[in-house]
Amino acid sequence: MQQNNQESPTNPCNVCGSHHVSVLANHSRSGKPLRTVICNDCGLVWSDPLPHNPRSFYEDDYRVAYKGTYSPKPKHILRAGKVALYRRKLLGKWIDQPKKILDVGTGGGEFAYLLQSLGHDVNGIEPNKGYAEYSKQAYGLKVQVGFIQDIQQPDESFDLITIWHVLEHTENPCDVLTKLHSLLKPQGTLVVEVPTIEATCQSPKSTFHEAHLFNFNLDTLRKLGEKVGFTEVEHNISADGANITVFFQKNVTATKNDKELKIPGNAERIINIVNNHTAYKHYLTAWPYQRFFYRMSRTISEKCATTNFVNGKKLLDQLYA
Ligand SMILES: [Zn+2]
Repeated sequence: MQQNNQESPTNPCNVCGSHHVSVLANHSRSGKPLRTVICNDCGLVWSDPLPHNPRSFYEDDYRVAYKGTYSPKPKHILRAGKVALYRRKLLGKWIDQPKKILDVGTGGGEFAYLLQSLGHDVNGIEPNKGYAEYSKQAYGLKVQVGFIQDIQQPDESFDLITIWHVLEHTENPCDVLTKLHSLLKPQGTLVVEVPTIEATCQSPKSTFHEAHLFNFNLDTLRKLGEKVGFTEVEHNISADGANITVFFQKNVTATKNDKELKIPGNAERIINIVNNHTAYKHYLTAWPYQRFFYRMSRTISEKCATTNFVNGKKLLDQLYA
C-alpha cells in the first residue's frame, strides 16, 4: 500500500465522477492480487477492476448456503441478536413510534425480527436465498429474495430504511442510494452503516478484501448521499472506530455538479492513515490484545448461552426480553 501512482480507473469515481486515481494497494488480505485505487478528487476507495460480479458472487454463495435446509448456528444467531440490540440503541428516537421499515440485506433476520417484535411493520430484502427463507420460517418475517434493484415495492413506501454493512459490497453504491431515495417517504429517514477506511483497530493486513468493493470514510459517504438528494442529519462512529453510521433525510434540492462533489484534502488524509497503519504500530496498540481476550470470552459466553438451544426464535425472544 505504498506506491500511490497515478493510474486510470476502469470506471469513473462513483462519488465525484473523476478519472484521477492513485493505487493504494495491490493485494488483498488473503495475499491474492487485488488492485485498490483511491480517487484523488474525493477520496473514495474501490477495487479496480471489480474482483467479481457481485450478482453471481452472491448467487453462488446462496447456492452453497442452500444445499439442503439452511440453518444458522446458534452462536451466529446470538451474535447477530446482540448486534441487533446495539442497532436498536443506535436508532433511538427514530424508532420510538410504530413505523413502516425496510431493512436492506436482512441476513438471518435477527434485526428485522427485533423491529417486528417492537411493533413496527417490517419488510426485508436479502439476496442469499438460504438466509431469506430461514428468516421467513423462523420469525415469520416478510422478506423478498433478491437485490435492492429488484424490490417489488412502490416509491415512497417507507418511513425508515436501514442498510447495515451492505453498501460496500454493491457494484454501484450511487445506484443503490438512488433507489433507496425513491423508496423513502418525503419525511423518511435512511440509516447507512459501513466500515470506515480510516479504521485502525484491525490488522493492517485486513484492510482490503475482495468482498468490500468500495471503502468509504465519513466524508465520501456523506457526499454520496448528497449527490442523490440526501442531507445528513446525524452520524455515529463506533467506539472502536471501525464503523460509521449516517442518518440521512431527503433534501429538497437534488444532485450537485461534479465540482461540488470533490472533497479537497480527503484523499491525502486517507492515504496518510492507510500508509501509517503498519503492522509494527498496530502491535504497539492495545487493539490486537483486546481483540484476543474479547474473542476468548465471547466463545465461553456463547457456549453457556446456547447450551439449551431449542430454536432461533426462542433464543432471540430470551435475548430481546
Ligand atoms: Zn471521486
